[in-house]
Amino acid sequence: MAPMKFRISSEYGVLEEIRDGRTHNGIDLAMPRGTELHSIAAGTVERVVDYGDERLGKGLFIRTEDGDVHIYGHLDRIAVTSGERIDTGALIGFSGNSGHSTGPHLHFALMHDGQYADPSPLVGALQHYSGEITGPSFLAIKGPATWFAEKAVDHAQSHVVSGMKAHVLDFLHDAAGIIVDLSYGVGLLTCAVLIILGALGLRDGYRWSGLTFGIYALIRLVLGGITR
Ligand SMILES: [Zn+2]
Repeated sequence: MAPMKFRISSEYGVLEEIRDGRTHNGIDLAMPRGTELHSIAAGTVERVVDYGDERLGKGLFIRTEDGDVHIYGHLDRIAVTSGERIDTGALIGFSGNSGHSTGPHLHFALMHDGQYADPSPLVGALQHYSGEITGPSFLAIKGPATWFAEKAVDHAQSHVVSGMKAHVLDFLHDAAGIIVDLSYGVGLLTCAVLIILGALGLRDGYRWSGLTFGIYALIRLVLGGITR
């Protein structure tokens, strides 16, 4: 058997404090935020949910052709819409840490005849179809800095042992995202204004716009890789 890409962080049916003593209705696979999730079966997207910080957070319910329901929870982003037909292997979203969760992982549950069932037999398929960590970033500039940042984040996440560390990583990830988003808006707007001022005759308008763009590009290059 091939080695497992994703560690099983919680089995089906276990009692855990975080779930207020209820049993776990699915299985958890630890994986870095932004891991591509591909459907393990053909079917129809029955429901797309977003419970915010509660429960599954961002989740997907897929009705397979044989009538089972596959549930994917704690996603970062969802790539399909309700009612959409999907084939086996279709990209359905990106894993994350949304909802009631103490660290980046995928919660996967199986419903058979309207009841939760043990999804363990499907873990091999989950391991097989998911895993390309390419993230849906509009800041996808690849360079030495982003490569290093990605490796550093992956390395850190693969060694996370406590939920607390995951929260700190998540916070840093979000903070970097905000800086990049801000630089995106402010940098491009400032550039545009300076170019217009340059056209209107402001001395050095073009030069300042070049400098602004340079700073903006540098922030993107340095932080782009860890804001997936
Ligand atoms: Zn779970």
